[in-house]
This record gives sequence, structure tokens and C-alpha cells, in this order.
Amino acid sequence: MRQALLLLSTVAALAAAGCARESAPADNATATTAAATEAAVTVDPAHDEFSYAEPGKVRITDLSLDLAIDFGAKQIAGTATYTLDWIDPQADALVLDTRDLAIEKVEAAGKDGTYGALQYELADADALLGSKLTIQVPERNTTVRIAYRTSPDASGLQWLAPSMTEGKHQPFMFSQSQQIHARSWVPLQDTTQVRFTYSAHVTAPKNAMVLMSADNEPKAERDGDYSFSMPQAIPSYLLAIAAGDLVFEPISERSGVWAEPVMVKKAAEEFADTEKMIQTAEQLYGPYRWGRYDILVLPPSFPYGGMENPRLTFATPTVIVGDKSLVSLVAHELAHSWSGNLVTFSTSRDAWLNEGLTSYVENRLVEALYGKDQAAMESAIAREELKQEFTDANKALQPLSVKPGDLDDPDHNLTGTVYTKGAWFMEALEQRFGREAFDAFLRGYFDHFAFQSIDTTQFRDYAIANLLEKHPGTMSQEEFDAWLYEPGVPASAPQVRSQRFAVVDAARIAWTGSAELPSRQVTGNWSTQEWVRFLEGMPDTLTTEQMAALDAAYHFTGTPNGEIAQRWYPLAARSGYHAADGEMAAFMQRVGRRKLIMPIYNALVQTPEGLVFAKGVFERAEPGYHPITTGSVKAAIARGEEAQAKAKAQ
Ligand SMILES: [Zn+2]
Repeated sequence: MRQALLLLSTVAALAAAGCARESAPADNATATTAAATEAAVTVDPAHDEFSYAEPGKVRITDLSLDLAIDFGAKQIAGTATYTLDWIDPQADALVLDTRDLAIEKVEAAGKDGTYGALQYELADADALLGSKLTIQVPERNTTVRIAYRTSPDASGLQWLAPSMTEGKHQPFMFSQSQQIHARSWVPLQDTTQVRFTYSAHVTAPKNAMVLMSADNEPKAERDGDYSFSMPQAIPSYLLAIAAGDLVFEPISERSGVWAEPVMVKKAAEEFADTEKMIQTAEQLYGPYRWGRYDILVLPPSFPYGGMENPRLTFATPTVIVGDKSLVSLVAHELAHSWSGNLVTFSTSRDAWLNEGLTSYVENRLVEALYGKDQAAMESAIAREELKQEFTDANKALQPLSVKPGDLDDPDHNLTGTVYTKGAWFMEALEQRFGREAFDAFLRGYFDHFAFQSIDTTQFRDYAIANLLEKHPGTMSQEEFDAWLYEPGVPASAPQVRSQRFAVVDAARIAWTGSAELPSRQVTGNWSTQEWVRFLEGMPDTLTTEQMAALDAAYHFTGTPNGEIAQRWYPLAARSGYHAADGEMAAFMQRVGRRKLIMPIYNALVQTPEGLVFAKGVFERAEPGYHPITTGSVKAAIARGEEAQAKAKAQ
């Protein structure tokens, strides 16, 4: 089965999408072929084809780490000790996922507690899955430990030189385990079908604060020696670590911000509503079950918007814009405390169960805190992007439930479909069954499946029993299934209307018609979303005079707001507006968040002149980019080169 799937990965060349709250740029998606679908029919739908683990035979129930962080060598080294639950009475081997790990010793604890060596085999590396580690455990010991070290190129870790941080004084390191990168820094059953508790002892240089997705102590002494415990069982992709010049600023009794000193106050102000968000979510979906909820603000090279590491959300600094207009990111990562971290998808093909439900809850929290207008604007922007993404070429990934064999890499099922269509489906249910009934349903769902991993079929069965059959005649099973198994969105999908966007659209149309810019009275209170809408509705290209007039009035070039930059610079590139070149290059070098910079690269590579510019910027920026971002930029440049070679040949 796996063999067949690996062959398929060459036909489905989707560019890496994001983890939390970051869908792939629409033009990066290509289709899996019909042959791919056919070849995959024999795949067991419950099997996680992206892990070598055999959780039906033996499961890790607890992980104990003893690690040392070495910034100079860009390496984490130490031991991982596993508590095992042997399920299959015939099983006598433990199979783990690893990638680029040096395995130094594998041992098991005997009945008297002394360790003895075990036989093991590390297979040749598969490009996607890494190296299968098979450990013979003839005594079926409950405690096994591995001494290992990571590679400086570990796909799940980024090592930043001091110059790439805000403070410029100390190096920084952080992990990004989702979806299958935890195996590059800990040997694991790297599948969402296994949950384990963990503890860790970590040493680092004395001036580095170390944090994990665990019980971080706000008052921890910075002494290079740290201990952590995570008493709730989590899947491997939620294992997280970061180290650097980090200080803490409280928001409430149970919530606060970790960031570099220059950033921490600003971040705490931007995220001041976090406690209110937690309380709102609790009223809707039951108690927050993870203890503290803290936010770690990473350097700008973090390739994603955020990552829902339990107890410690990892966040990009690009959402700190001074007016709280982008804090829906926190609402999103917090919502994962229910959808994703508590109830987890069991294969990456069911990613919508994490991201779709989370995007829906995110929007509900935004509505509760910032009003219906704000929530409607955010939905409208997301759905506009989703529309762009739906093309005939990527039909295989448009159903919420992706068929076995249609996904080549788990990082690729993080499209607008799983986020925005998933949330839209939830809104369709809410509108049809009524908010009261739907809120009760969702709360019951989170309780029912708490700390479990489930697939789309389990969600469907639960929804049919607890929603459709409880309220007969409200929604047919056919209509329900269309959301799950058909491409696009059903014709009955509820539409979103935003009054504030109507004003923005009118202002833009008036300007393009009469060259009269909207007055300060109109634009004075515009939020990020309104500026985004203003720019997104522009024609494909504008004249240099028009660009200069907009720039003089609104100072788009050099904007500190990445969401605006993400729309303005591509328009500048398409329009040949070179006055923006310097600031555009500086932005692309400073920021490594793919969502914000890929639209600029994608616009630039369309022309020979832009391609040269993009390559020049990339050469300077690459040392500071995360490997995930580097991969995306290289793919965009390659597409541009290919298109231009073709154009020349004609
Ligand atoms: Zn997410």
C-alpha cells in the first residue's frame, strides 16, 4: 500500500501549505490524477499512511525526555524513554518514525530496573516518511529508551543566528512538529492515532529560556536547566520546544505572553483580550482543560501564522499591528484547545475536523468579542480566497473528506477547503438547526470524543444521530453528505453580507471611475480587513500614476501591516510600480511567513524582470527563512523559470 502511495507523490506536487490557520496560495495547488484515485482503492481508510508505527500492536503511553540544546552544533541530543502498552499478544517489535536522527543506543529496562541493549534496525530514509526504526523487544518490556541526536537540518527545528532575532543578541531555536516533523527531533510513533503524556528535562546555555508545550512556569529562573510535565495525553504533532531570549508578561491569572524583551509589552497589549476569549469559549464549549494558556511570539521567520501547541500557542509577530485587528489568530489557536487538541483527526485526510471546526469556533469568538461586522468581514475575505482556490485542477482535495490515495503529503491537506469550507459547513448547520441546538451539539461532540482521534465517518455518524435525526426534516442526509464528499460548496451554502465592505466597494468603484480618492472621513476608521478588501477589489494592474496617488494618500509602501503588504506589493509588481521595490524587498527579507510573502514572489516570477528581482531578494533572504518557506520560494522561482523558458521557445 505504501509503495503505491509513494509513487503517487510525484504526480501530486502540491506546495507545502501551512499548519495552523494558513492555507496554501491557490495557484500552488495541482491535482492528483484519476490514476491516483484508482490506485488507492485498496488503502485501508483508517490506516495512517504517513507513519510506520503499528499502534494496533503496541502504543507509547508516556514519553520522558532528557535533552541538551547545543546552538553551536544546531543539535538536540539526549534520551527518550517510552512507557509502552503492548496490545497485540503476538507483538514483539516496536516500530518508530525517525527522520535524519542518529540513533546511538536502544535499551530496555528489565524487571530489576537495569537496562540491557536491544537489537534494532534503522531502514534507509524515505524522502517523505523518513527512516523506519524497528526495535526487537522479545521480552515486551514496558520501558524502552533511545539515546539519539538530531541533524542540523532537522525538518522540525529552526535554528536562528542572533542577527535573525528582534533583539540581535542571542540565538533562537523553535520546533514546528505538525504534521510529521516531530520525528526529526524525537523518535516517535508519529501519528495522530497515538496519544501520550510527557515529561522533559532540558539543558541549554544559561542565558537561554526554554519553553515546551507543557507546564511552563511564568516565574521560572533562567539558569539553563528546565523541567516540564504534560499530564494530558497529546498526539506527537503537538510536541513543541523553543529556546531563546524570552521573557514573560502576564495577561491574566492563567494567561500571558512569552516574547523577546523588545516585543513583550507590545504583544501583551495586542493580546489583552485573551482571557475574555478563553471565558467566551468556555461558555460555549465547556471548560478549558489544559491549565495555562500562554502565547509565545516567535521571530518573523516563523513560516506560519500560529501553531496550537497545547498550553503554549506559537504565534507570528506579524499579527501585532497595534489595533487588535488580527487577533483572530489567537481566537483560532485557542479554539484548537477543543477542536484538534482535544478531539483530533485520525488521519491527515480528515484535517478539516481540526481546521474547519476551529475556523468556525474562531469566527464565533471574534463575533462575541468584536461584533458581527468584524466576524462577517473575516468570513468574506476567507471565502473570496476559497473561491479563487476552487479550480478543476484540484478537485480531489475539494471534498472535506479526502479519499485514501488522494493526498501525497500530510502537509498538503491544509488548503482553504479544510479551513474555510469546513467552517462554512459548520455555519450552514448552525443556521439550519439554530444556534442553540447547534451549540449544544458541538459541546456534546467535544465531550463525547475528548482525548480521542476520530475520522470523518465518526463525525458523520455522531452528527446524524445527534443533529439530523433529532431534528427530522431540517437537513437531508444527501445535503449533509454533499459538504463532506463533493467538490466545491453546495448551492444552499449560506452567504455572508458585510455592510462595511459595501462601503469599501463603493469607495473603490468611485475612485476607479472618477480618480477621486475616498475621503479621510470614510477611511479614517478602516480596519485591516477594510484595507484588504479595498486592495483586493482593484483591477489586476493600475497605472503608475494611480499607484503613486494611492501611495501618497495611504502610504501602502512600507506598511508595517503584513496583511496589507501581502496585497499591495503583488499589485505593485504586476503594475510595474518600481517606487515600491526597496520596501518590498525589505519586507520579503524581514518576514518569513509564507502566507504574506508567497503572493509577492508569485506575482514577481510572472515577468523576466520580476523573476530576476525575486531571485536577488531570495538570495539575501534565504539564510533567515525557515526550510518550509525556502521550499515554497524555490518552487515559485522554478515555476517562473519554466514558464519563461516556454515563452521564449515559442
Ligand atoms: Zn488551525
